[in-house]
Amino acid sequence: MSIAIIVHGGAWAIPDNEVAPHRNGCRNARNAGWDILAAGGSAMDAVEAAVRILEDDPTYDAGVGSVLNRGGFVELDAAVMDGDQLLYGSVAGVRRVRNPISLARHVLNSPAGMLVAEGAEQFAVKRGIKLCDPEDLIVDREFAIYQDLVRTYDESKDTGATPPPGERNAAIQAGGWPAPSMDRPGDTVGCVAIDSNGWVVAGTSTGGTGHKLVGRVGDAPLLGGGLYAMNELGGCSTTGWGESIMRILLAKTAVDYLADDCHPQIAADRAIQRLADRGKGTAGCILLDRHGRLGWAFNTPRMAHAWRTADGRDGDGV
Ligand code: ASP
Repeated sequence: MSIAIIVHGGAWAIPDNEVAPHRNGCRNARNAGWDILAAGGSAMDAVEAAVRILEDDPTYDAGVGSVLNRGGFVELDAAVMDGDQLLYGSVAGVRRVRNPISLARHVLNSPAGMLVAEGAEQFAVKRGIKLCDPEDLIVDREFAIYQDLVRTYDESKDTGATPPPGERNAAIQAGGWPAPSMDRPGDTVGCVAIDSNGWVVAGTSTGGTGHKLVGRVGDAPLLGGGLYAMNELGGCSTTGWGESIMRILLAKTAVDYLADDCHPQIAADRAIQRLADRGKGTAGCILLDRHGRLGWAFNTPRMAHAWRTADGRDGDGV
């Protein structure tokens, strides 16, 4: 079996001055996951290790450095899926866990599939995970963005509706708060890996979309939306405008497109095209198939990613 790994660090209009940290973080995560795979370790260990590195890196909207919601605090979502048994672990709305991907892995090894908010945190304590202070997840950059949004946001002009992407900037200028724009950070992180036993695992972790409603959960922790894995086909992790990703179950759609040994690059392109056409959405996806071949696609200006395959090739891009 050919081992392979691919990671992403968000799809949006990543500004030029943030390209280097995005690239470096993805490389670090890719390298850590690769070392585990190359030493004969499992795809589950590789994905968890890679995503933890991205969660710990304040560059990204996952773990420390995540966006603040309208209440001025961080709520984290994450999930991991095992492509062999089709088991999954998912957590949403957690406020006091630094590495939700590890908590999601614990949930995978429990009778539950998904735990939210306080229940997820109580479960974390039971599994020996030390809870953090919610303030520990907030970095100056995100606090400043939050303060800016609070200053400009006019609730009376917010209809609560999700305008089509083309009208989002106009809605922002009118003082309302629409669906996330590509101009706002959306640095969800994710990883897909295949190990020497042909085991495919996908993981995704996020702080969600900036200035989201308290309690809002996007696609990232939802099976088929933010991630999917099935050994017979491959695995996928997504990032972008979550509400649109869910409309077409982007991760499951991309994995389904791998049928008949379709190359992952063709499948990724098709999935993003479907998201644009049918979901009227903006996002990116990373995809890996059962042979360890890779593909990725996005219809945002940029997507941070890094990869390595068994034939000695590797690469990255933002
Ligand atoms: N998909 C994430 C969400 O909607 C955000 C992102 O990927 O940037 O919560």
